Amino acid sequence: MPSLSVKRKFNFHASDCTPPPFTDEGEGGGGGVSHTPVIEDAAAEPASKPTRKMCADAQRCAAGELTTLGTIFGEILESDKDFNRNDEWLGFLECHMQREWECGCDFFETASGNITGSSAFCTTHSAEQLTEIRAFLGYFVPRKMGTPDLRDMKRCGATLRKLLSHCVAKGYIDKKMQRELNKVIKVSESFDADGVSEALQRLSDEGYWDDLAKENTSEEDGEDDDDDDDDVEDVLCDECGLTVSEVHSNGWTFESEDSDSHAFLQLPPEVAAMGKCGMSISCMALVEKNGVVRPYGMYGHDPYEQVCANVYPPSPYE
Ligand SMILES: [Zn+2]
Repeated sequence: MPSLSVKRKFNFHASDCTPPPFTDEGEGGGGGVSHTPVIEDAAAEPASKPTRKMCADAQRCAAGELTTLGTIFGEILESDKDFNRNDEWLGFLECHMQREWECGCDFFETASGNITGSSAFCTTHSAEQLTEIRAFLGYFVPRKMGTPDLRDMKRCGATLRKLLSHCVAKGYIDKKMQRELNKVIKVSESFDADGVSEALQRLSDEGYWDDLAKENTSEEDGEDDDDDDDDVEDVLCDECGLTVSEVHSNGWTFESEDSDSHAFLQLPPEVAAMGKCGMSISCMALVEKNGVVRPYGMYGHDPYEQVCANVYPPSPYE
């Protein structure tokens, strides 16, 4: 019953994570076997070939002092083989880490094939790199995976918590790191980003804000209001997206990225209740049309046909 199909659903494939090729040894370790990269001796190489940089973590893994993520993923999958519950989300996390390389190493060419744990990053780095879970949940999942639905996010959370508790049990990370990352996971797995974007779109399609505008104009004894039907006025707009600063029972207050301007978007109570303080929505402006503030898509042909792009969870920093 689980669920190789989800990979297809997200239209995302492990091969998408291959970084720009770094021409070097063809073979990169398979299924959790730690492969040892070589620090190249510049003198022995042609001058044109770049010297490979390795971060401290990769050097310690190469020296055998630390267990690699590839090995750790292998341990989890081995203990999980009857259910195969965790392979998929470990694979997505691996794609994120293999793409980003925030550690200071040069990119290494990834091993061919799609075995979870076999990427160049995972076979050369330790569990210390699991702090990347923040960027994975805060950026990669909503942005690169198109905001999976809540059920998938619960599976994601379960896999990441399993990974962290395994790492604590084996002494790869300490409990403090686990606690901090579990907070981030908890926010993401209980945040219905997909539901928020669907609800905003549905309200726009159903004419919710148009109806509010009609109520307003009929109250003001409705003289010649037909002329201005298509006039919109920018209320709040930011290329970086809008962030919800307050959640009320009848709507959300948004602020721009630099947080010096605010606007209130009226919503029905059941949609307002889906909001979380600190969540942000990309490619959406707020405009006033016929006296009512409403969402306005900032890409595509029709600003009402697609009122927003991605919905990002709040970042639980303290
Ligand atoms: Zn590194």
